Amino acid sequence: MLDIMEKEKMEAPEYNKEAGVVLSPEVHGLIFVEGEQGHVTFPTEAIWEIHKKAPGSVLAFVHTHPIGMANASALDMHMLETWAKVLYPFPARLSVITLIPNPVTPTMPTYSEKVYYARWQDKEDWIKDKTKERRVDIRIERVEEFHQPVFSWREWLLDFSYKKKSA
Ligand SMILES: [Zn+2]
Repeated sequence: MLDIMEKEKMEAPEYNKEAGVVLSPEVHGLIFVEGEQGHVTFPTEAIWEIHKKAPGSVLAFVHTHPIGMANASALDMHMLETWAKVLYPFPARLSVITLIPNPVTPTMPTYSEKVYYARWQDKEDWIKDKTKERRVDIRIERVEEFHQPVFSWREWLLDFSYKKKSA
């Protein structure tokens, strides 16, 4: 007979593919995207339509990464910068969800979500010194570690990206 530790070890999550969700200001999933092993492509047109109809309706772009890759990639940062310009005067947010490798307690998977915040410089501010390029300010807004997905969109992301190893 297997004890509970042994059983749960066999259900440790393993990485599948990336996935993405576009969030509304109410923190609900607006668009769900199934990605590939190393990337996820958000549907630019559909997101633009949502924003055009009701500016401020796009809160964040959330996506998963392979195990341990908690930081945004160069491509992610480029995407964030672009969306900050598109969504202006609203900010853009991009967050990365990943499984944190934890060999000590594999029975309790820990995930992290790192949220990057970006906003295009105000036009009035920029025109004071036009010799400089109009900048996009990017900062890390928050990092949250969690064991349970809590939100249904997070659950969807983790189900798609981190399937459980079956016994
Ligand atoms: Zn990424």
